[in-house]
Amino acid sequence: MSKLQQVQEWTDQHRADVTYISDPHTIQYLTGFYSDPIERVLALVVFPDQEPFMFAPALEVEAIKDTGFSFPVYGYLDHENPWQMIAANVKKRVHRPTKIALEKNQLSVARLESLQNVFPDAQFNQDITPFINQLRVIKTAAEIDQLNVAGKWADFAFEKGFAAVKAGRTEEQVVAELQYALMKKGIMQMSFETLVQAGAHAAEPHGATNDTQFENNELVLFDLGTIWQGYISDASRTVALGKPTAKQLDIYQVCLEAQLTAQAAAKPGITAAELDQVARAIITKAGYGKYFIHRLGHGMGMSEHEFPSIMAGNDMILQPGMCFSIEPGIYIPGVAGVRIEDCVHITESGCEPFTHTSKELTYVG
Ligand code: MN
Ligand code: MN
Repeated sequence: MSKLQQVQEWTDQHRADVTYISDPHTIQYLTGFYSDPIERVLALVVFPDQEPFMFAPALEVEAIKDTGFSFPVYGYLDHENPWQMIAANVKKRVHRPTKIALEKNQLSVARLESLQNVFPDAQFNQDITPFINQLRVIKTAAEIDQLNVAGKWADFAFEKGFAAVKAGRTEEQVVAELQYALMKKGIMQMSFETLVQAGAHAAEPHGATNDTQFENNELVLFDLGTIWQGYISDASRTVALGKPTAKQLDIYQVCLEAQLTAQAAAKPGITAAELDQVARAIITKAGYGKYFIHRLGHGMGMSEHEFPSIMAGNDMILQPGMCFSIEPGIYIPGVAGVRIEDCVHITESGCEPFTHTSKELTYVG
């Protein structure tokens, strides 16, 4: 059964008249078509016992058909009222819908009110988000193939990025070089803003890349990912420029042990919380527990914000096909920031990473 048919079946089982899908990533997951229409309206409308349709800005209609979507696609022009047009097309199929399911995590209040105006008899309290999340959490073999290609391009980016680090250059210059190398190969999009952080700047795990210059004898943190046919990669490496201090080397070795041990422990049957604890125990025992200030990992696939979240309190049992990051980090203000990250997929007996750049400390410059 296709993913779209599973949504249709969910709609039937939940006795909804209509399911209104509006998250661009969900639409991509279900149809293969991706566009973020910003303020314009893009929707996939699913019925229990009739063909679905897509509703889109007129300028997107041809692109949707090109992806092979075999059901009706209706376009609207900027001066037309999209809500009235959606309602007219729904009412051709369901005369008076009373139950409309939607994605509660995505729809703005203004858009919900627009739907309420054109469907005054309908209730909107059914949320399909948990079902979509559950569907997305287990990746198919085809999805894992895409993730492997995205990972291969992240490895390529590390190689180019490491070669570009020199004392006196800036973080921004290195980002420019590695992204230019990717673009020349046809990889035009990163999955998030590339992070290259020098020395103590890396102790701000969500700080941005800036014009900080590299100095000799410090660690440099890279965190990057590419997009391949809608699927992302996300990986981090920390490398050494010159001779880091004993303290910095110690932080690196502890973080590496945590990452390798957790990756070896990731297999069917362990829970997300237990896996987080495997890494956290190693860092805590070494005395750096209070500097590991985020969860061990996040689910990923078409975005880096999927399930399962690898953190305390999540008792989800890991199963084959689940994809997530394993990214312990130690951030000591004024000293260094170290993060080592691979995203993996759970197999029948363990896990396989999407990225393969060496995790032994690499010396650059
Ligand atoms: Mn990352
Ligand atoms: Mn990550």
